[in-house]
Amino acid sequence: MKFYELGLGDQLLDAIDCMGFEDASPIQELAIPYILDGHDLVGCAQTGTGKTAAFLLPMLDMIGEADHSKTKCLILAPTRELAIQIEKQVQGFAYFLGISSIAVYGGGDGGDWEAQKKALKKGADIIVATPGKLLSHLNMGYIDFKSVSHLILDEADRMLDIGFHDDIIKIISNLKEDRQNLMFSATMAPKIRKFANEILTDPKEVNIAIAKPAEGVLQAAYVCHEYQKTKLLKQLIADKPSYTSIIVFSSRKRKVNDIVRSLKGSGYEVEGISSDLEQKEREAVLKRFKSRKTRVLVGTDVISRGIDIKDINLVVNFDVPGDAADYVHRVGRTARADTTGVAITLINEEDMYKFRQIEKLIEKDVFKVPVPPEMGEAPEWDPNAKKFSKSRGGGRGGNKGGRGRGGRSGGNRSGGRGKGRSGGGRNSRNKR
Ligand code: AMP
Repeated sequence: MKFYELGLGDQLLDAIDCMGFEDASPIQELAIPYILDGHDLVGCAQTGTGKTAAFLLPMLDMIGEADHSKTKCLILAPTRELAIQIEKQVQGFAYFLGISSIAVYGGGDGGDWEAQKKALKKGADIIVATPGKLLSHLNMGYIDFKSVSHLILDEADRMLDIGFHDDIIKIISNLKEDRQNLMFSATMAPKIRKFANEILTDPKEVNIAIAKPAEGVLQAAYVCHEYQKTKLLKQLIADKPSYTSIIVFSSRKRKVNDIVRSLKGSGYEVEGISSDLEQKEREAVLKRFKSRKTRVLVGTDVISRGIDIKDINLVVNFDVPGDAADYVHRVGRTARADTTGVAITLINEEDMYKFRQIEKLIEKDVFKVPVPPEMGEAPEWDPNAKKFSKSRGGGRGGNKGGRGRGGRSGGNRSGGRGKGRSGGGRNSRNKR
């Protein structure tokens, strides 16, 4: 479906054109009409499906017609990386619409807190924030949320995992009741449904491929001993000289450093990223990776969600992620939009049970590649393995998202050409 068929305004269509989007993705096709009609919505979509634009485009369309002096839209996201990513997309589209935005997230230095405070006092049409940091500002009493008519919760499952439930509820208590609520999540686990019931009113539901990696990803796995993993990883990288962008995930921060050290020792351009790094360092590492200066990025799940890095050739799960949602998010770093990619998981004896559970959830038996004989004998794949995991690589990614020290903001008040769209005549809400 073409974007102009979705009832979006002319200037937004110009912006979409500039972004090089031709057809609406399935989540956009399904979600945009509901959002434009003013419904609450719960959307189940994995990263890489275009879900950010699915909520941003109708938002910008509605806000573009409104008074620009007050905040109309609040977007909450689990990590600073995702908040930055979303706000960048806002900036990209908003250039044509004269809409302003601010990103609020933790992890910077003290000076950032002041810059952020200043930007919040000045206000913006759209605020994109991590809940913990936003709440700290909110408690200081200088944010005016009375005009917020649209609330978006992105990666809601992740926000609950991090423990943001209470912060989110406190933030919402500062908003007016008469507003539109959108919630996006990679899974529709019972806890998400419960959360949706708490916040949304009579929501429409759109569902895109629950917890399944995108079609273009070639998934495979090696069943191996822990001590064979580094050798296997090095061979995977050495075998594919044409792969210019490779991400290696580990569930543990300490292991990230070990892997980086080992790959560096073999002469690869590699960097590590985890929640241990300061915000500015993390941004610099991501920038070098995006610009292909670094070939291999090793990280915890802090990079598995929402981060838009295009054309990743290979994702290696150095250990089996904590659950299927994490697996889908990690694997979702490759084969975004129309590209193809390869995702390989290294499974040790203790993680077989965990990996089998993931296979059940994604409804796919991932092909097990035999470990090359020169690397020694490997364990047998046992799909009926009993639950084993002692502490091996399990757990979650150790990412505490936007709850870091200090604070910072990025501010954007894009000039733009003003609105004045043609056509439309749509009810830009309020249903309650
Ligand atoms: P997301 O799922 O929001 O992380 O988006 C994944 C990637 O797809 C981002 O790089 C978007 O810019 C891109 N994208 C979103 N919508 C479209 C579309 N309709 N056509 C082409 N690319 C898109």
